[in-house]
Amino acid sequence: MKTSLFDDAMRRLETAIQYTDLDPEIALRVGTPKSCLQVSIPVRRDDGTLDFFTGYRVRHDDTRGPTKGGLRYHPSVSLDEVKSLAFWMTFKCAVVGVPFGGAKGGISVDAKSLSPMELERLSRGFIRLVADFIGPDVDIPAPDMYTNERIMGWMMDEYSTIRRRHLPAVITGKPVSMGGSVGRSDATGRGAYYCIRELANRQKLDPASTRIAIQGFGNAGQHVARLLHKDGYRIVAVSDSQGAIYRPEGFDIPSLIRGKEETRHVQAVYCDGALCHAIDATNLTNEELLELDVDILIPAALENQITSANAARIKAKHIVEVANGPITSEADAVLCENNIEVIPDILANAGGVTVSYFEWLQNRSGQYWELQEVHEKLQRIMSREFGLIYDLALEIKTDMRTAAYVHAIRRIGETMEAKGTSTYFANGKSH
Ligand code: NAD
Repeated sequence: MKTSLFDDAMRRLETAIQYTDLDPEIALRVGTPKSCLQVSIPVRRDDGTLDFFTGYRVRHDDTRGPTKGGLRYHPSVSLDEVKSLAFWMTFKCAVVGVPFGGAKGGISVDAKSLSPMELERLSRGFIRLVADFIGPDVDIPAPDMYTNERIMGWMMDEYSTIRRRHLPAVITGKPVSMGGSVGRSDATGRGAYYCIRELANRQKLDPASTRIAIQGFGNAGQHVARLLHKDGYRIVAVSDSQGAIYRPEGFDIPSLIRGKEETRHVQAVYCDGALCHAIDATNLTNEELLELDVDILIPAALENQITSANAARIKAKHIVEVANGPITSEADAVLCENNIEVIPDILANAGGVTVSYFEWLQNRSGQYWELQEVHEKLQRIMSREFGLIYDLALEIKTDMRTAAYVHAIRRIGETMEAKGTSTYFANGKSH
């Protein structure tokens, strides 16, 4: 029987809780979403017809602060998926120590099939329906797959119109001209890059001989590729939804980014000045990319890419989860057995929410930071939390994923205990 994504997420929680001495009530509370909202968004198409799209917003847990999480536009968006992503956001925010709980949202739509005007009507329509459930002190959306800063700008504008005041802190990932933070657009890829740097330091990886494959060449995938390439790492394979390209010598990443921008497809090209020409490369499927013999595999597209069906064929030594949930819990066990180290999503892709927090801070203070300040603060947080989780994994003799969950649940549990649990009310604690 196919298990749901949410059940799979719960399994990680159950494993982690065994490593803590927290009140069992805390696991129960953290395993239950606070609220799930489903809306039906009417959109007038350009040809005058009317369509309805289903949207969701789930607030998973607000123990540590207002809830925070992206909005995804994808045909596969479902309540189960959004609930799981909201759960992960709760843990991700706790992993990096930002004062937010977790939320997520999305609309079941093929965004590529809409005209820009239809996309704007859909995005503004969604905000009209969820306006009473979000807000700078309540729940703060952000971009995710197939949403971008332009959409966040429309949403912030719509929310401000409804509330009749300028409220940029309601949404992060906005254009810089509308109160967005510099450094937000590459924050997820950059956060993952800082994690890989920490991993390389500890395990003495030499960039020039480290072969990397990246599944998904969108926002997060392109930025992590660009930064690693600049440091001399060999990016031997990349892919998008159409398929993968592989070249053992490695690719020139700025050329691939330019090729993708110009044609909207990943293509094996090398660009010299204004001229780009095709170079030799092997075409692979996305499934084949995952099974390449590389040092680091970076899934940066969708969830459930490494499952019990292909886990035993994964040859990478390390996997850095830039996507949310690319590995199922069943596959985790196989990878662990094969000594494949996984830097988990709730740490590896937490750079995005960290800079979203910086953006929210800047919006609320009215003071805006320089790019260097954003990079320095992000680097400090990612390196610190990577180190704490890496050391905790060694201390409690477990994998990095379990250690990251333990680290997060301790932080969440501490706040819950401070607020009061049944043990507290029953005076079961000495303090
Ligand atoms: P994006 O829309 O910019 O890019 C997604 C990429 O994945 C595209 O290149 C697309 O072609 C590719 N893709 C889609 N289906 C695929 C498939 N079946 N096989 C291979 N590639 C496929 O999205 P993004 O913002 O880069 O997000 C990618 C992942 O990173 C998602 O899991 C998202 O939740 C996660 N993430 C993103 C952010 C962020 O700030 N952008 C933050 C945290 C986590």
